[in-house]
Amino acid sequence: MARLEIVLEGDPRLRQKATRIKHADESLRKIAADMHETMDAAPGVGLAGPQVGLMRRIVVVHVPKDEEEEQEEVRLTLIDPEIVKSQGKVYGQEGCLSIPRWVGEVPRAETITVKAIDLDNKHIRLKARGYLARVIQHEVDHLDGILFVDRVEDRSTLFQVTEDELSKDEYAVDGEE
Ligand code: ZN
Repeated sequence: MARLEIVLEGDPRLRQKATRIKHADESLRKIAADMHETMDAAPGVGLAGPQVGLMRRIVVVHVPKDEEEEQEEVRLTLIDPEIVKSQGKVYGQEGCLSIPRWVGEVPRAETITVKAIDLDNKHIRLKARGYLARVIQHEVDHLDGILFVDRVEDRSTLFQVTEDELSKDEYAVDGEE
């Protein structure tokens, strides 16, 4: 496995639409493993293909267990993910590994249903809510060239955190605070 270089805002690849994969093969499984390693090392809770210069529709997600939110640990690789149903609207703070140290308040659907295939080409259909739903929506946006800053409604909620605050782990990137 290898850590990949994360593409930063300003790079035109972050604004392009990624192409469908349709079939996962050995080389995709290898890059998915590298994406998980890169996300974990960052550390982040999600990473999309274009963020590592791969213009294909793949996202990886790792949401830690959170007892308060009744969130179990979830690790996912979603290929050609499609949000087929979304309900509700909730606001939450997000950051992004491609826009270091910026956070802002973003509205997202509260619950979503996602269709995708996994690394074994099995069809998956999963329902997510809250934090996990937020992370998946953020990552799927990356596949269409959309960044969280585009979705911030109130620009006054957008601010930059200091290195100090970051090292205290107060802000999760590619996901909610
Ligand atoms: Zn992001």
